[in-house]
Amino acid sequence: MSELKPRILVIEDEAPIRRFLRATLGAHGYEIEEATTARDGLLQAAQHPPDLILLDLTLPDGDGIDVARSIRTWTQLPIVVLSARGQESDKVAALDVGADDYLTKPFGVGELAARIRVALRHAARREPLGSTDAVWEAAEEGRRLRVDLSRRRVTLIENGQETDVRLTPTEFKLLAMLVRHAGKVLTHRQLLVEVWGPPHAGDVQYLRVYAGQLRTKLERDPSQPRFLLTEPGVGYRLVEGT
Ligand code: CA
Repeated sequence: MSELKPRILVIEDEAPIRRFLRATLGAHGYEIEEATTARDGLLQAAQHPPDLILLDLTLPDGDGIDVARSIRTWTQLPIVVLSARGQESDKVAALDVGADDYLTKPFGVGELAARIRVALRHAARREPLGSTDAVWEAAEEGRRLRVDLSRRRVTLIENGQETDVRLTPTEFKLLAMLVRHAGKVLTHRQLLVEVWGPPHAGDVQYLRVYAGQLRTKLERDPSQPRFLLTEPGVGYRLVEGT
């Protein structure tokens, strides 16, 4: 059983954080390896690829963004970025080069464990995006939302009653991208490039408008969204399917 423990490589120069991660993740059944510099992190990742990397953004000999970019040239293994408050733009840059998620320091044990579980599950699935039988469903207090990508059908189920939700082609395209990455944060840029195309990578206003429209159609209270969550300064996250 022990050789089945998922291995996590922690690339972080701050000893107290490494100690916290080792203790917490060890207790959750993960095997931990540590690197304290960008150089050592890249070396260890290449020599003995882990199942997941926790990557600090400010390392003594370099930038976590460059580490993420470099790792992405040869592997899709999940990378969760550890950032400090005030590093919003670095966090977004790391996600844009292919990091999977982020945690803002200080972070709690529950949040850490949840993000790691989601990232590992995504990596295990790794089915080609847009696979034809993808159905995503999530529930909140007596209400279920179902998105069937192959039938292009969106349904709200409330008190046993099914109602089809009519979306415009752009609204559906945006929702479909979120469904394919459910549970994971997508940056404004990633969503804009995918849905509107590269020339619109900076048109965040488009996204605000369409995310608002989706919420009006899907959420019970659009100002208190339960399905389509805002990641302030970063992007959006659709909750994981349940
Ligand atoms: Ca650091």
